[in-house]
Amino acid sequence: MRKLPFDKAKLEEIAAKWPTPFHIYDAKAIRANARRFKKAFAWNEGFREYFAVKAAPNPHLMELLKEFDFGSDCSSMAELVLAERVGNVGEKIMFTSNDTPAEEFRKAWELGAIVNFDDVTHIPFFFDAVFGGSPKPGDLEGRVFCCRYNPGPLKGGNAIIGKPEEAKYGFTRAQLFEGYRMLRDAGATRLGLHTMVASNELDPEYIIDTAKMLFELAGDLHDSLGVDFEFVNIGGGVGIPYRPDQKAMDIERVGEGIRKAYGELVKGRGMKPLKLFMECGRCITGPYGYLVARVRHIKNTYRLYAGLDACMSNLMRPALYGAYHEIVVPGKENSPETSVYDVTGSLCENNDKFAIQRVLPVLERGDLVVICDAGAHGHAMGFQYNGKLRSAELLLEEDGSVRQIRRAETLDDYFATLV
Ligand SMILES: *Cc1c(COP(=O)(O)O)cnc(C)c1O
Repeated sequence: MRKLPFDKAKLEEIAAKWPTPFHIYDAKAIRANARRFKKAFAWNEGFREYFAVKAAPNPHLMELLKEFDFGSDCSSMAELVLAERVGNVGEKIMFTSNDTPAEEFRKAWELGAIVNFDDVTHIPFFFDAVFGGSPKPGDLEGRVFCCRYNPGPLKGGNAIIGKPEEAKYGFTRAQLFEGYRMLRDAGATRLGLHTMVASNELDPEYIIDTAKMLFELAGDLHDSLGVDFEFVNIGGGVGIPYRPDQKAMDIERVGEGIRKAYGELVKGRGMKPLKLFMECGRCITGPYGYLVARVRHIKNTYRLYAGLDACMSNLMRPALYGAYHEIVVPGKENSPETSVYDVTGSLCENNDKFAIQRVLPVLERGDLVVICDAGAHGHAMGFQYNGKLRSAELLLEEDGSVRQIRRAETLDDYFATLV
């Protein structure tokens, strides 16, 4: 059984002020995790984690992570503006987008962000968007550029992101040589190399291999083009143990494995020092956010259903990927798990289920139910289909106090865009 940072009495107290459903994040646990994460890579001078804003696009969480000097990995206008509002500007923004519109390139440029290209044709597109044509000598001075590598069949697949050769992202190997040549010839001197080939990956070796792949590639690009790299960014995708039988990624082992590879492939090859960047979202906040709901109805037909006051617009992962999320019933932690439920929401879609045939204690109307590991790609994926509204987000502070960091949507929000 998962240990929660609150008990039933505390949750009832919170719910009296902010009615269910709501998302609540554990500030203390997020800080402890951020500290540990940074420490695992402290051997690398200049290491930086750029928190993937899309995982939990709330400025209060971004501010909390800023305490640890985490940057922001942004992929849209709104995410760029969020980073700007929390004071993450300049090289604290990694702008990793795809199918990018011109105005987002211009905004990223204006903010001084590291611009990470998703395609070789985006380089002249960017020059057009920002300079109205080819850059003049000195235009790129001091700015950092990066290209996203897609290794295609050279790297094995991963469950969520799929096989690299079927993924829409990034340059082929040959295109990378072309892209960095274009950047070099246009006067760019500060360069990085990026890839993102994992999602919810629990095998440390996969992440270590990704770093190795980029260290070698940076060396090959250097040898061929004479360009030096300041950093490699191995992307995000570090997984979390959603299921009780899964083990958390041993982040210290990842750090140590990459340190060894760095010794061989970077130092050993006589390359200049490379900074290691990551852009994880899930493993930074995922396990420390909870969706709290109440049982609204118990229904007994061909199956036993527990209908909650939350639905898939509050947490879409089970419906979208068949994802497993642990469910805890506060106050019944020690009750025997004797009943099998489909735990549902009220959306008119039969996949609106948080759990299917889950063994739980006997549930009653009014019971509080906590859905675990909702702290990343949870609230963020919310939508308004079927007239469902997005819930509030709360932050449980280290002193036990609770602060609302996003209010729940109201019907006025729903109707606000109608002409
Ligand atoms: C989604 C995404 C991330 C974060 O992924 P996690 O699985 O949350 O770590 C990082 N970088 C890019 C480019 C992404 O699309």
